[in-house]
Amino acid sequence: MPTRTPMPRTRQPAHETHQTPARAAIDHAAARQTLGDLTDAYLWAVYARTLAHHGTSAAEQLDAAEVLAPLAALTGHTDQAVTAYRDLTDLATAALGASHERALHARAGLAAAHQRIGRCGQAIRDLADVYTTAERRHGPEAPVTLKALTQLACLYRDCGSPDISQRCLRVAATIAARYLTNGDPLRSLVSDIARMPASENHRAVCTQFTPSLPVPVTSLAA
Ligand SMILES: [Zn+2]
Repeated sequence: MPTRTPMPRTRQPAHETHQTPARAAIDHAAARQTLGDLTDAYLWAVYARTLAHHGTSAAEQLDAAEVLAPLAALTGHTDQAVTAYRDLTDLATAALGASHERALHARAGLAAAHQRIGRCGQAIRDLADVYTTAERRHGPEAPVTLKALTQLACLYRDCGSPDISQRCLRVAATIAARYLTNGDPLRSLVSDIARMPASENHRAVCTQFTPSLPVPVTSLAA
């Protein structure tokens, strides 16, 4: 059955003889993303992932999935982002092991994708597990651990649990201050997130915590 994958609007780039079509498409998707053309980058990534299904190496399949998943999220394909991150998680876990940094980053991405479509409880449970696995395997100061912890803080904050969010951020700030230098981008990320308000957009799909959200006037009148 012929593929229904939409072709990117730009021509496929010429590639060197040692480069496979899948690798060329992966590189082109990444280049388009760097240039800021996310829609074209996404289409190239879909094309790359399709090419990487057919007899290519596990590394190429993993790289293609790693380019596609964030682009699906960035371009608003929320349901496909879940599928793409699950695919990426499966590939990274099979190729590298469940506690490898790339597998943990993939699972963190999957948690974010779940939260975006309102599967908030699952997102928080999965991300909490990513955090504890990362801390045990890579240490509390590892980038993968700190990123999971700050992401967990964001999830709790956006899902209406600011107290738990603040606790996560205090732990992250303590670890960052102890292990990271002043100019470390991760240390800045922790303090930046601490200043960010909860996402207004998430409220429309949130299914986890609502008691601390403002009560609508209409329900008071009921
Ligand atoms: Zn939520």
